[in-house]
Amino acid sequence: MKSGYTPNNTIVVATGNLHKVTEIEAILGPILADKHFVALGELGDFPDPEENGTSFDENALIKAHAALDETEFTQAIADDSGLCVDALDGAPGIFSARWAGEHGDDKANNEKLKRAMQEVPDGKRQAHFHSSVVLVTRGEDGEEDLFGEGDCVGTIGYECRGMHGFGYDPLFLPTDAPGKTMAELTPEEKNTVSHRFHALVDLAQKLKE
Ligand code: IMP
Repeated sequence: MKSGYTPNNTIVVATGNLHKVTEIEAILGPILADKHFVALGELGDFPDPEENGTSFDENALIKAHAALDETEFTQAIADDSGLCVDALDGAPGIFSARWAGEHGDDKANNEKLKRAMQEVPDGKRQAHFHSSVVLVTRGEDGEEDLFGEGDCVGTIGYECRGMHGFGYDPLFLPTDAPGKTMAELTPEEKNTVSHRFHALVDLAQKLKE
């Protein structure tokens, strides 16, 4: 364990992605000022848990529980997110990462989305990214789960554009950034409109209540 980081003053973030930790720390750090944040991936090479929940909330909980089971910390934060397309009845939703087969094949996922939306007219291309974030606290009296929810509303484009971001960013045009795909926003710009940002702000609000 890093020096000064104890099981009770540290929140483990169930991710290997250090950018997510920075984003989480920037929003929750001022409210949880006495806490350190550490990425699970910094602590070792842990296997990804099977995300077999039936909702974003359930999958976020699965990740947070796995992080707590694998470490000696008492608090964990995890998030689960995905793209929900109106014309596709909410798909790919919780299956966003593995929609085209292999987990995390962004290129194949975007090709599949482009094909599925080919015939959908301009006025019916609405979609949103959703993010569920959960802070799990294990204590002697049991467990407390506090959720934050956030959406980023927009439409699906006809062609991939932009080099930033990941996942479906090149095909998603956020309403809050007119004329641009999410992949044409800088990481800083994306962080001010993203579903994860809104979910973290929602969680921060609940922590203040
Ligand atoms: P995760 O829950 O953050 O791992 O996201 C699951 C999947 O949803 C990713 O593999 C992407 O396909 C999609 N996704 C989630 N967030 C984003 C985003 O910010 N941009 C683009 N795609 C995303």
